[in-house]
Amino acid sequence: PRVDNPYLNAKGYVNPEWKAKAESVAGGNRVSNNPTAVWIDRIAAINGTPDSSSNGAMGVRNHLDAALAQGAQYIQFVIYNLPGRDCAALASNGELKANELPRYKAEYIDPIAAIQGDAKYRNLRIINIVEIDSLPNLVTNTSGNPGGTAMCDTVKANGAYVNGVGYAIAKLGAIPNVYNYIDAGHHGWLGWDSNFSPSATVLREAAGASGATPANVHGFIVNTANYSALKEPYVKITDQVNGQSVRQSKWVDWNFYTDELTFAQAFRNELISKGFSSSIGMLIDTSRNGWGGSARPTGPGPSTSVDAYVDGGRVDRRIHAGNWCNQSGAGLGERPKAAPEPGIDAYVWVKPPGESDGSSKEIPNNEGKGFDRMCDPTYNGNARNGFSRSGALADAPISGAWFSAQFAELMRNAYPAL
Ligand code: BGC
Repeated sequence: PRVDNPYLNAKGYVNPEWKAKAESVAGGNRVSNNPTAVWIDRIAAINGTPDSSSNGAMGVRNHLDAALAQGAQYIQFVIYNLPGRDCAALASNGELKANELPRYKAEYIDPIAAIQGDAKYRNLRIINIVEIDSLPNLVTNTSGNPGGTAMCDTVKANGAYVNGVGYAIAKLGAIPNVYNYIDAGHHGWLGWDSNFSPSATVLREAAGASGATPANVHGFIVNTANYSALKEPYVKITDQVNGQSVRQSKWVDWNFYTDELTFAQAFRNELISKGFSSSIGMLIDTSRNGWGGSARPTGPGPSTSVDAYVDGGRVDRRIHAGNWCNQSGAGLGERPKAAPEPGIDAYVWVKPPGESDGSSKEIPNNEGKGFDRMCDPTYNGNARNGFSRSGALADAPISGAWFSAQFAELMRNAYPAL
């Protein structure tokens, strides 16, 4: 029988591969004992990928054994290998082509399920973060949307994402000590009416596909690998300046949320209204959304205009809320913590801080990683980020590879501070 909140009063698994990378940077030992998720980002990662830029030699079984040896009570994996992966971007395109759903099932999900289902691990709470940056793309990045892509059209039409996620949660969810949390975007992506309810509908559809039911879903995660602030203390969505709502500011741009906590709580209610259990809990990835350091505002902005108020008071200092790659100025966010707020099972570090989101220049590689100009600091943007500068750090390696300079900055700008 599953517990309601697998994080509550439980010791999390510390990935020794990430810990070693964190400790390779001065001061990294201040945070290296935090649990981070293990990304199974390709078929080979199931058995370990000593030659990949991201993960190391440890495979799924090695991590589970190490978790037992640590006396950990939970371990977090990211299931991340859908056919036609990352359909609206290039930095994390995967190894499976859009029509390779059969391989996803047989060569990826089935072997993971066989290992996670080993009776030896029955007393561990195995938490799977399922397919980040996938299902909401079927709503927001298909034709008819600004910046829609052909690949998102393809995986919508052929059902690769819906059926892939359905299969994953059904198969893994059949294991009694597995807890599935499906990715649910972030406020800067889904916080508008046009995206909010339709995305919840697609999530419900996936939870009914390929043998899945909503009972296979323990909850959802927001802000995975993203930078949206947890709380905007000085920009509440109800704030008005000279009779104008902050929703009219350039930054908020008619969004109904200014931060992840309010979004996560509201989206949880929306998901329940679509047929998910009222006991679902949300996770928020706080690995890189701290926005501390000396540039952090300490009070509201001036009331001269709605833009001055928002820009002067917001703690999220990105150029545009649609920017997602190696954001300059970001800091580590809340340390992993169980049951921090109503409806929230935990703050978690799913994106291992210090691992790149994508290369800032084209870097040839045989890991399927493309070059996305959103990672290029000289790029002037596209329709998905309001044609803004990318805000990305320079000199970044390919996605998943260790980026020491970013990790050092994340520590400097941590909030709460280290
Ligand atoms: C990469 C993966 C990596 C993960 C965690 C993703 O963007 O594509 O290879 O494991 O980030 O850093």
